[in-house]
Amino acid sequence: MNILVINAGSSSLKYQLLNPETQEVLAKGLCERIGIDGKFTYKPAGKEAIKEADVAMPTHSEAIQAVLNALVDEKNGVIGSMKEIDAVGHRVVHGGEKFAKSVLITDEVMAAIEECNPLAPLHNPANIIGIKACQALMPGTPMVAVFDTAFHQTMPPVAYTYALPYSYYTQDKVRRYGFHGTSHKYVSQRAAAMLGKPMEQLKLISCHLGNGSSVTAIDGGKSVDTSMGFTPLAGLPMGTRSGDIDAGIMEYLMKKYNMDIKEMLNVLNKKSGVLGISGVSSDFRDLEAAGAQGNQQAALAVEVFEYGVKKLIGSYAAAMGGVDAVIFTAGVGENGGGNRANITAGLEFMGIKIDPEKNKIRGQEIDISAEGATVRTLVIPTNEELMIAMDTASIVKG
Ligand code: ADP
Repeated sequence: MNILVINAGSSSLKYQLLNPETQEVLAKGLCERIGIDGKFTYKPAGKEAIKEADVAMPTHSEAIQAVLNALVDEKNGVIGSMKEIDAVGHRVVHGGEKFAKSVLITDEVMAAIEECNPLAPLHNPANIIGIKACQALMPGTPMVAVFDTAFHQTMPPVAYTYALPYSYYTQDKVRRYGFHGTSHKYVSQRAAAMLGKPMEQLKLISCHLGNGSSVTAIDGGKSVDTSMGFTPLAGLPMGTRSGDIDAGIMEYLMKKYNMDIKEMLNVLNKKSGVLGISGVSSDFRDLEAAGAQGNQQAALAVEVFEYGVKKLIGSYAAAMGGVDAVIFTAGVGENGGGNRANITAGLEFMGIKIDPEKNKIRGQEIDISAEGATVRTLVIPTNEELMIAMDTASIVKG
């Protein structure tokens, strides 16, 4: 079974054609600068990536057509015809409270996704454009929506309720939703497989640490708390996002620097996080290098981030009344051995201890716990595309 996975942004579109049963990736790539000057990247399995500039893609429709053409191309294609694409799995950022799992896309589902647009005004409209373009080009091919928020819909009210006037929840849907759900779900399933235990018996803390970061408490396979909130701006300090701050800071700075809310949010989303503290970069590799050369601000940025993760591990263990394993995933979680060492340092009291040698191994699923640790520490490369393809296949198969 071949599933085309589509992740459509406002001016870009990531795609992957894969077989969820064999986990084989047939081809993958990226359309960038849609509506500008169209850049197209296509990488068939086992061959060099093909990159083309100035490809006419005024809309997502031409971008997806370019993907389909490449997939069936005589020379570099990986399938004989479009009939070999059994279904399309679309990443959709926000499913609000309407979607607690992935769904087959129907007209009603499209309307419900559109109703979630105000909750993710930058992302959902782009996801919808991607779905519509695919529907037009591939009529008859089943389409499935996989939501970033769905996995977290199991959170109890005590975890998702903000201490605001309650009508903001009941009327305006202001609550914690959480994001990165596809990744947290995938790594938690892999963790259960690695530990050889039924998911129902496990308390897991999943740390998705990348450009955007979130930590999730997963009890018995269900998300029970997560650090992102109503928007992906909440929780940990990230590459450029502030994470949680005292809301009072906004009024203070807006008055002092005569900023409107748009400018303030631009600061919080694009100029804050480890970039903001360090003044150097949002990339953790740059920060590590700068820190090693004595840049105090760069070192502090990384420390603030690591301290935030450490506190979430402690609080989620408290929330669940224990923890069996801590999972590290995404760019920093998978590669940042130094970050993992600093985050877990001092957590021996709760049974977390990592083996420095195992902590050096990269690019594979590995249990990096030290001997005697009673809580496992796992590094698990995330694979959101595979999770989307697996969900899509299971829904299409019924
Ligand atoms: P996104 O949220 O964009 O998907 P990724 O999960 O790809 O982000 O993570 C990107 C981050 O991973 C970057 O900040 C990058 O610095 C970090 N990263 C990649 N390799 C390493 C490394 N060896 N050590 C520390 N951080 C790393």
